[in-house]
Amino acid sequence: MTGLAHKHVVVIGAGMAGMAAATRLAERGIETTLIEAAAHLGGRARSVAIEHNSQVIQLDNGQHIALGAYHETLKLLATVGVQEKDAFLRVRLNLEMRDGRKTAFNLKTPSWLPAPLNQLVGFLTCTGLSWHERVTVMSLMLKLKKDNYRLNDDVQLSTFLQQNQQSSNVIALLWEPLCLAALNTPIKLASSKIFLNVLKDTFENKHNSDFLLPKLDLSQLFSQPIARYLSANQGNVILNQRVKEIKPSDNDYQVVTKEKSVEASHVIIALSPARLRSVLGDLPKLNCIAEQTDDYNYQPIYTIYLQYAYGITLPKPMLGLVGGVCQWVFDRGILCGQNGLMAVIISAQGKHQQYTQDSLALRVAQELRDAFPHLTKPLWHKVIAEKRATFSCNVDLPRPAHITPYPRLYLAGDYTYADYPATIEGAMRSGVACANLIK
Ligand SMILES: Cc1cc2nc3c(=O)[nH]c(=O)nc-3n(C[C@H](O)[C@H](O)[C@H](O)COP(=O)(O)OP(=O)(O)OC[C@H]3O[C@@H](n4cnc5c(N)ncnc54)[C@H](O)[C@@H]3O)c2cc1C
Repeated sequence: MTGLAHKHVVVIGAGMAGMAAATRLAERGIETTLIEAAAHLGGRARSVAIEHNSQVIQLDNGQHIALGAYHETLKLLATVGVQEKDAFLRVRLNLEMRDGRKTAFNLKTPSWLPAPLNQLVGFLTCTGLSWHERVTVMSLMLKLKKDNYRLNDDVQLSTFLQQNQQSSNVIALLWEPLCLAALNTPIKLASSKIFLNVLKDTFENKHNSDFLLPKLDLSQLFSQPIARYLSANQGNVILNQRVKEIKPSDNDYQVVTKEKSVEASHVIIALSPARLRSVLGDLPKLNCIAEQTDDYNYQPIYTIYLQYAYGITLPKPMLGLVGGVCQWVFDRGILCGQNGLMAVIISAQGKHQQYTQDSLALRVAQELRDAFPHLTKPLWHKVIAEKRATFSCNVDLPRPAHITPYPRLYLAGDYTYADYPATIEGAMRSGVACANLIK
């Protein structure tokens, strides 16, 4: 029994986890109020408008990519009316890493073979590794499959790879770029267990390893269709209201902002781990969880946008770069019609953080010119530095469960989906799982 005559769920935080929870609840016909501190939905996956020469340009706070393995994300998008073909360019796993003008590594998995044969043929025929190195990669993949990608004891990924005879060349060209892209954590800190979970899901079938590259900006992709769906299905959205307290009483909760107090039969707290502590004042039984998240470290993601002249493109929508500060470059012209606009990603901590934003943009432009000489001088640049983009996915990181010691009060958010690093998919799965716990 709750104090309210009917169910009313308050979801706190409208990032991917909160939006997924609210959508699932609306789908189930349960009255829901989604409360967000910012003026917009989306949290760490949102669009930002910048002004250049009195023109407003829509960018993302970071170039996001999804994988074929993001089943919950695709399902939720379908629920709110977004079809995959309109939202994403699906490209078969192809890792092409450039070092200046030369292709340092190229891995293509043949589409006509089922998994894991497609990976084995891919690794056998990839360029940039010696024959011996290719054999060590294939042996490791076979061993992982045999062990169902499980490890008894977690260990730093760099140690795990060395223990499994991976050379420094293989690590630099294959494993480190994958680790940075998937875990946003340096390989010397990263959890092998979580990395293997991602590998397992990615390589489980051949479609899971496809890259899904957004053709829309993040607001068009997620926030706008979700907001439309919620408003059509009795889901309330309150923006610009930071929740300050959650007061439990015998039968319900009062969710308190500066201006409002909203009564709830159930509460889903869908905040980032860095913000969790700020709403727990009246919930002492959650102290031990907050103590764990207080100890989390965070990793940055830098996105450097460079606008080139109209018509300038890359040979592919996504390419890897090694040997400098740049890690990946995306052609937003090919992807979302932003002609001549390149987005360069630099994940996790590193020497790029020593630069000022302008000097980093100059350095990135130089590295792009070295790799693609037709990319001469950019017309303008914009650096978006998300300093606490994700939690650092370290060895044995404690990850709280969705169920808490308080009845009808749940935790969602990327950090609560214990199998995954910080991802859209982990956040979505956590939100849907919490919504499904409400009976
Ligand atoms: C630059 C960048 C690039 C990334 N690239 C990828 C990628 O390519 N692929 C991928 O899968 N993942 C990527 N990620 C990770 C992914 O974006 C996150 O894991 C995911 O968005 C986290 O969602 P969340 O709902 O758990 O948390 P958040 O997005 O942090 O949502 C929490 C929400 O709570 C709100 N809030 C905070 N305090 C309060 C309060 N007191 N009251 C009310 N609301 C509050 C916040 O404003 C926010 O909207 C990237 C992240 C960044 C930053």
